[in-house]
Amino acid sequence: MNANLFALFERAFPADRARVALATPAGGSLSYAALDAGSARLAGLLATLGLQPGDRVSVQVPKSAEAVLLYLACLRAGFVFHPLNDAYRQAELAWLVADASPALVVCDPAAADLFGAIAPAGCRVMTLADDGSGSLMAAAAATTALPATVVRKSSDLAILLYTSGTTGTPKGAMITHGNLAANVLALVEAWGFGPADRLLHALPLYHAHGLFVGLGCALASGASLLLLPRFDAAAVLAALPACTVMMGVPTYYTRLLQQPGLDRAACTGVRLFISGSAPLAPATFAAFRERTGHEMLERYGMTETGMNTSNPLHGERRPGSVGLPLPGVSVRITGSDGQPLPAGATGEIELRGPNVFAGYWRQPDKSAEAFTADGWFRTGDQGHIDGDGYLTISGRSKDLVISGGLNVYPREVELALEALPDVAEAAVIGAPHPEFGEAVVAVVVARADARPAEAVIIRALKDRLAAYKVPKRVFIVPELPRNAMGKIEKTTLRQRHAATFATQDPPG
Ligand code: AMP
Repeated sequence: MNANLFALFERAFPADRARVALATPAGGSLSYAALDAGSARLAGLLATLGLQPGDRVSVQVPKSAEAVLLYLACLRAGFVFHPLNDAYRQAELAWLVADASPALVVCDPAAADLFGAIAPAGCRVMTLADDGSGSLMAAAAATTALPATVVRKSSDLAILLYTSGTTGTPKGAMITHGNLAANVLALVEAWGFGPADRLLHALPLYHAHGLFVGLGCALASGASLLLLPRFDAAAVLAALPACTVMMGVPTYYTRLLQQPGLDRAACTGVRLFISGSAPLAPATFAAFRERTGHEMLERYGMTETGMNTSNPLHGERRPGSVGLPLPGVSVRITGSDGQPLPAGATGEIELRGPNVFAGYWRQPDKSAEAFTADGWFRTGDQGHIDGDGYLTISGRSKDLVISGGLNVYPREVELALEALPDVAEAAVIGAPHPEFGEAVVAVVVARADARPAEAVIIRALKDRLAAYKVPKRVFIVPELPRNAMGKIEKTTLRQRHAATFATQDPPG
């Protein structure tokens, strides 16, 4: 059987190809027949450009139906899709394009000169604008469709996706057709996707969440997608009644909660709200349930592995936990000596399964470091597994604060802060401290109309946490720095607060 991910999608296409595969808010739509024909034509074009199977196609384009066709065309023709965040600027792009060494770049017409200057010798540059105009679709219109999906082995690369780089230099994760197929089949089963579903897709296509999880679940189940160009709370609220499933990062849900129109009536057609990519605050889970009657389903994944664990479709969705391992995925927790730890103990989260990537592009040393001697992937996340198998994440290993020799898991302190009535969001970091090595620092966003005082917050936490976990300083800010996926940029916070204890003795 052809292990090409597109072949898996093709098998799930509905018998009636006139059914809608993808719709846009402006009223445009592509049937499954049009999705098939359009991606086959683009694949035919790519094949005539002299690319060889395995060659990279670097893509920085606005989100559109044509961008989806381009992704599918790369799969069909056996090329490696390399999506680029549209926020990246020249220096970042130059580094990433040099590393990926693509044979073709597709970019927004406005960036054609920039890519022309940074593309490697022999690499072609084509353009695709948000309305589908540009040289790519014009050339495809005059091309013959690729007659058949190229045969790929499950170990062949499908996507080169760079880690989002909130902690240092990005690394290119090599994701195979087999990784994507195994993960998407597990998700379709776990989340009950079927042809009757319509997915509200507001996520970017340059990240695992929107690309493999969002597009993947819809296309592997013959469902349809409502493709929004970006997240806009009012537009999402207006689109909800036509959708059955929504996927988002926690910030999408906190922004939706700020919309007065979010209520039970707005969500009557929706069967499932899924959250991931960053921790979902239990207060957000509770507020969303209160307003809409829906318990959000939180899951845990990453660029290198796709999705790993999920709260159940049927069964307890535990706030603060990322749920149980997906079918085929094994999860264990290890201590600093690398030995597996018992239930309840906190350590590094390690994973094994067909979803785990093939290593980092052209970085054999980093690839080797990412795996244990017995073949488990070290996630760099810390957490614990309850006796009944639910996993809870307590932070990134790099974010762990060691104060006076004691480990402080930032997420535990953040949860305690977010449980205070005046606190909307919290981020906890370590700052260099002359006595303790590092000291706990909290950066907090207040709830609307609340004016919490630093001393009051510190006092309240002293009742709830061991003294060494209580922040020595609490900074109240209007907004936390976040990347496009809603992840708090802790590196930025650490830089901002690095000198907190350098010159003066802190209060508390
Ligand atoms: P990325 O590779 O950009 O998708 O980032 C993956 C990282 O996001 C993981 O290693 C976790 O640290 C974090 N992450 C993803 N989902 C969750 C979640 N539900 N709760 C907490 N952290 C998450």
